[in-house]
Amino acid sequence: MANQPIFILPESTERYSGRDALRMNITAAKILEGIVRTTLGPKGMDKMLVDSMGDVTVTNDGATILRDMDISQPAARMLVEIAKKQEDIVGDGTTSVIVIAGELLSKAQNLLDDGIATSVVVRGFRNASAKAIEILRNISINAKDEKTLNKVAMTAMTGKGSDFAKEQLANLVVDAALRIEDDGKIDKESINIQRISGGSVEDSFLAEGIIMDKTPVSKNMPRDIKDAKVALIKYPIQLKEITTNATIDVTDPAQYEAFLANEEEMVKDLVDKVIESGANVLFCQKGIDEMAEHFLKKAGIIAYKRVKKSDIQRLNKATGAKILTDIEDLTPEALGSAGHIYVKKIFDHELTFIEDCKNPKATSIILRGSTRYVTEQIKRALDDALGVVAATIEDGKVLIGGGATEIELVKQLRDYGDSVSGREQLAILKFAEAIEVIPRTLIENAGLDAINIIADLKASHEDSPKMGINVFSGKIVDMEEEGVLEPLKVKIQALQSSVEAAEMILRIDDMIAAKNGLDSTGPDESGNDDSGMPPMPPAPGMGGMGGMGGMPPMM
Ligand code: ADP
Ligand code: MG
Repeated sequence: MANQPIFILPESTERYSGRDALRMNITAAKILEGIVRTTLGPKGMDKMLVDSMGDVTVTNDGATILRDMDISQPAARMLVEIAKKQEDIVGDGTTSVIVIAGELLSKAQNLLDDGIATSVVVRGFRNASAKAIEILRNISINAKDEKTLNKVAMTAMTGKGSDFAKEQLANLVVDAALRIEDDGKIDKESINIQRISGGSVEDSFLAEGIIMDKTPVSKNMPRDIKDAKVALIKYPIQLKEITTNATIDVTDPAQYEAFLANEEEMVKDLVDKVIESGANVLFCQKGIDEMAEHFLKKAGIIAYKRVKKSDIQRLNKATGAKILTDIEDLTPEALGSAGHIYVKKIFDHELTFIEDCKNPKATSIILRGSTRYVTEQIKRALDDALGVVAATIEDGKVLIGGGATEIELVKQLRDYGDSVSGREQLAILKFAEAIEVIPRTLIENAGLDAINIIADLKASHEDSPKMGINVFSGKIVDMEEEGVLEPLKVKIQALQSSVEAAEMILRIDDMIAAKNGLDSTGPDESGNDDSGMPPMPPAPGMGGMGGMGGMPPMM
């Protein structure tokens, strides 16, 4: 008995302990960094993503790449989750989070290899990050005026496939944000970006109110109404479907007629309730059947069916109408109002405009472009721009981009590190080195010589904290004069997110996985992708993306 090995885990369990686990996780993080870092900055390259249905997305937007990639290595997945949080909170800086986190982990690895304890590394990183945030606040610039907001918007859009119309698009975003600003707060949900393929990007415009990609259920309903009384319902206006196994025994024709008449009565009751409430425009999230359509038309009511939930929510905010789930609640008090609702054709596309709403803080951007690919790409750029403009309005502070802020940060962090004694100093200095990855990557992605330019940049910061790299000319210039500005909020959040991610990974010293838990079982291979389609062979070079071992470098 004494020599008998004792197993507490099933035989099929995979386990990696201590340095093995750490090494594996750090490697995974670095692979992820390797994938996204080539997209950083205006000169970043694009990635082509092919999903399991064969749909193609070409983008250099970090958030989109991470969202669409099917990653299964657990540590890499944690990193992706943290980067997504960055996107949700501030709407930009996702690539930076992954790149800085990957670099912090590389540096941590060096420190651990030199025999420094994990706890010392983590503490050093934490102190360095607190100091870094203090430095960022100190060097930030107060700015809330429209001109600065435009620059911030343009910086976020540079290199995202929309440069040719950057100024105009930045104006649209800033105008929209300022319109919905409420006490210094921006509710991004109040801005609806409506894409229309056809026409050119320059024809994009801003419209007050809500624009919906829908037309009334019947061509014969009114298409233009003033002083609209709006009802929003979540229940269908149709007969409850008779389940397939229900049978109705009809013995004579009169009985059948009575049955139909009864059906008609039920639908008529539902419609009468709408009429009684005084509503003249009805937005229904569910279906409206033909019989109901007929009665509604007769009553002169404009009705929309299968309206998107997000549109119903916007209408609720803008018109003040309650969202009703029960017919009994449909009373005059539950209605909202809009000064003008009408259908208008844009290019060859009919849209419904809801204007002069009770709450004026609803705005739409009609985004036009030659094809779906163009409008999709520009919408992503607009989303980023909206994120940074909102962040700038909310906190009123910006930092200088193009590596200027990071080089200054490295410089001041080094000074701070020199003031700290012991092993923690090494961690702080490594932290500073890691931050340098941002300017270095911007330079590398522009095809320039990173070593020399970084040295020149550092020298230039002896005189001015504003010097950065103009990736188009390759020159070291004052980036504030170039108008390259980013919100303080985005940079602080990016730093916090990457430190959080690095720390989380550094603290793991054991990985215990159930059988296949660490395998690459993307939906392609397992066939359980819920699509009801037979499993497809993975696209060449893509199928292994989910796994640790098979993750291709994708450069
Ligand atoms: P992220 O997903 O992290 O926002 P981006 O691809 O948007 O990544 O790149 C952001 C980086 O590009 C920032 O460090 C920013 O300072 C830099 N950048 C933006 N515009 C310019 C420019 N015109 N010249 C140099 N650097 C720029
Ligand atoms: Mg960005």
